[in-house]
Amino acid sequence: MSTVKSLEDLFVHHLKDIYYAEKQIVKALPKMAKKADSDKLRKAFEDHLKETEGQVKRLEQVFELFGVKAAGETCPAIEGIIKEGEEGIKDAKDPDVRDAGMIADAQAVEHYEISRYGTLIAWAKQLGKKEAASLLQQTLDQEYKADQLLSKLAEGQLNKEAA
Ligand code: ZN
Ligand code: FE
Ligand code: FE
Ligand code: FE
Repeated sequence: MSTVKSLEDLFVHHLKDIYYAEKQIVKALPKMAKKADSDKLRKAFEDHLKETEGQVKRLEQVFELFGVKAAGETCPAIEGIIKEGEEGIKDAKDPDVRDAGMIADAQAVEHYEISRYGTLIAWAKQLGKKEAASLLQQTLDQEYKADQLLSKLAEGQLNKEAA
């Protein structure tokens, strides 16, 4: 971590962290879509990939509002979550089990993002950066929706298994 002296430094540090994370997610989602057996799950991954590409652009706007050059800083958390997910995909031979595992892994990603964006929004408001806060809020809303859709797909899958 570079020197953090103020709340603004802390904000920028976490902005770089989530920027790195979103770019890793852009790389991971097409692989997950390819492995998905359910059409609905594949579409959910493909749709969220498009949203995530927009989220990267939104973060670049936030960097600009802070007068900082957009740059990533390695996020060990997202690397760990994605790595754990890739191990799961490799292990599961049954397509329904693999889908269930991928939904769980994707929700871990969404929950990490939700926690980071929640904090960034609170700090942006404290720093008086309303426009940045509203840009980050748009992304947070997408992350919540993605998480809810994954929950619905998981429930649908369980109902199918039970039938
Ligand atoms: Zn750091
Ligand atoms: Fe995201
Ligand atoms: Fe991180
Ligand atoms: Fe997401």
